[in-house]
Amino acid sequence: MIAENYKIEISSLKKQFGDLIVLRDINLKIAPGAVIALIGPSGSGKSTLLRCMNLLVIPDGGLIRIGNDAFQFGPGTSLPSAREQARFRRGAGMVFQHFNLFPHMTVLQNVMEGPVSAKNMPKAEAAVLARKLLAKVGLAEKADVYPQRLSGGQKQRVAIARALAMEPEVMLFDEVTSALDPELVSEVLSVMRDLAAEGMTMIIVTHEIAFAREVADIVVFMRDGVIVEEGPAREVIDTPKQEGTRSFLRHFH
Ligand code: ADP
Ligand code: MG
Repeated sequence: MIAENYKIEISSLKKQFGDLIVLRDINLKIAPGAVIALIGPSGSGKSTLLRCMNLLVIPDGGLIRIGNDAFQFGPGTSLPSAREQARFRRGAGMVFQHFNLFPHMTVLQNVMEGPVSAKNMPKAEAAVLARKLLAKVGLAEKADVYPQRLSGGQKQRVAIARALAMEPEVMLFDEVTSALDPELVSEVLSVMRDLAAEGMTMIIVTHEIAFAREVADIVVFMRDGVIVEEGPAREVIDTPKQEGTRSFLRHFH
């Protein structure tokens, strides 16, 4: 049943909040190691889609599979147990626009927290892993400082290290550079570029169109809860086929 050739499979995904239909019928298949840039106007459902993949939002219908973990939602299905949800969530590392670091913990403790509390990793082992990940995001020397001492770009890199510490199957990024001062954007994009080059499967919601064109394999354009167009990044960005995509992209020229 499971199509092993895809890392992520989403079919007929639906979500509404009250009368507002936010995801109409989303179908998406993502190959291992692929980098997907998810673009579209504000309110089109991009964050809701990522949040469904992390079960922060429970879909009304459809199927989500990440690696070997799959859930079917909707009438006739039962909600996944808390334990199943926790396991599923671990498969998808998520980084948000606002960093949500724990202010009372050092950078090292922030990165260690997930493996220690959710995976019962021994502290010494978690510390080794955390230091390795901090080095990877260029912050080895900040291990012992508290988040308030960091710049926004540094905080966001810690947030990425923290998500990676759970050894997720895929990484989900929701406008992670939108709240940063412009001069701090590139250091975060650079970490994401490295991850992509290492073969991490990633979905990146972004308004950085040049970055999407450069780093993403596939661009998916969403509007009003529907995937309007998807295809190779350069094709979609340089020669969009749909008028909706064209008019959206005109804002970035
Ligand atoms: P995007 O990330 O593309 O800007 P969102 O997924 O955040 O879009 O939101 C899509 C629509 O769903 C918006 O109209 C938003 O107001 C609405 N929405 C999102 N989350 C909720 C929620 N928890 N309750 C009610 N409405 C929501
Ligand atoms: Mg959003």
